Amino acid sequence: MAKKKMLASVSLDLDDKWSYMKVHGDAGWEKFPSYLDVVLPITLDALDRLGIKITFFIVGQDAAIEKNHAILKMIVDRGHEVANHSFHHESWLKTYSKEKIEAEIVIAEEAILKATGKRTNMFRGPGFSWSNDLLEVLQKRNYIFDASLLPTYISPLMRKYYFWKSKLSKEEKESRKELFGSFKESFYPLKPYNWKLPNKKDLLEIPVTTMPVFKIPFHQSYLIYISNISQGLMKMYLRFAIFMCKLTKTPPSYLLHPLDLIGSDHVPELAFFPGMNIQSEQKVKIFETAMTILKNNFELLPMGEFAERISKERKTIQL
Ligand SMILES: [Zn+2]
Repeated sequence: MAKKKMLASVSLDLDDKWSYMKVHGDAGWEKFPSYLDVVLPITLDALDRLGIKITFFIVGQDAAIEKNHAILKMIVDRGHEVANHSFHHESWLKTYSKEKIEAEIVIAEEAILKATGKRTNMFRGPGFSWSNDLLEVLQKRNYIFDASLLPTYISPLMRKYYFWKSKLSKEEKESRKELFGSFKESFYPLKPYNWKLPNKKDLLEIPVTTMPVFKIPFHQSYLIYISNISQGLMKMYLRFAIFMCKLTKTPPSYLLHPLDLIGSDHVPELAFFPGMNIQSEQKVKIFETAMTILKNNFELLPMGEFAERISKERKTIQL
């Protein structure tokens, strides 16, 4: 009998073209230019070829635009899950008041419901931004989990790189100073765990998995950067990350972004972004290579299904 595979979840943060322009400080983002009609067909076709269902974290602002409805509805029609990625996609969400956070979650939920026919009950903060108030709001609204944590040692480095490449003013940099999370984030567990909230209720946390022990990211964007050096090195890096997950019994939560599947041939405006020199066709190939390796090692599930299937015995962390 074949050995039972460990579970893993796969999700994609559907950050749109305008949200990258906004972080980068480019004019014109206020009109919400979109590439969803390009990236979604490519992504959904690739997922069909792989036979994988995943969770799409949708930004409410995109769902609020009527002309995006048909393409967003396609996610659900092709059997994937939809989840809430906030309304405005502001990585300083953690500085919002509790009221403002709740409003942000609710308007995104309503917009996504209108666009896709599904009410979301899973959340990931923009730029891995989260706060105690956020977790309390999610629990109150009966969300089944939060997925905003990125436990890594290198977020200060990632931030430096981003600012170095951006045209942001000093004030804008200040408001983005915790982009990619703060250093304390790196001490949280990689395995799913329960937050114990002040009202004594629990909320499941499914962090984005970084390499166990080393806590360096290995999601698809990182594999793309490494593939720029060598595909062999990329595969080795991924296989080592998988080995570490198995060794530490960490069921990975694997994260994808639109720019993992499209290059500057489709979005010349985002040529500043790392890895954009690689063309879309090549990116899809790299994606299929990585996903096939993951699929050979794990049973890949969308996050809602994953949350239902994982062991109920887990660590509790007092908020
Ligand atoms: Zn995002």
